[in-house]
Amino acid sequence: MSIAEKQYSCPYTLAVIPLATMSKRKLVVWGYTCERCGYQWIQRTAGAPEPKVCANRKCKSPYWNKPRQHPAPAKKRDQRRR
Ligand SMILES: [Zn+2]
Repeated sequence: MSIAEKQYSCPYTLAVIPLATMSKRKLVVWGYTCERCGYQWIQRTAGAPEPKVCANRKCKSPYWNKPRQHPAPAKKRDQRRR
């Protein structure tokens, strides 16, 4: 076991090397939207778990990924679609 092998076993190191070669590379990031305040943010850390709270400082809601549980009003809709 050499030191070099230990470095290449790190996924973060592997992700940095392609950028150093200046090659064109598509990076996939996760975008999140808070269901409570509508705040949108991007999780840049690859492989990171989902945020526990909203990234909005004024919100910080732990239910950012859960839609509001509002009672649906009984609206009369036209059932005939044909
Ligand atoms: Zn929020």
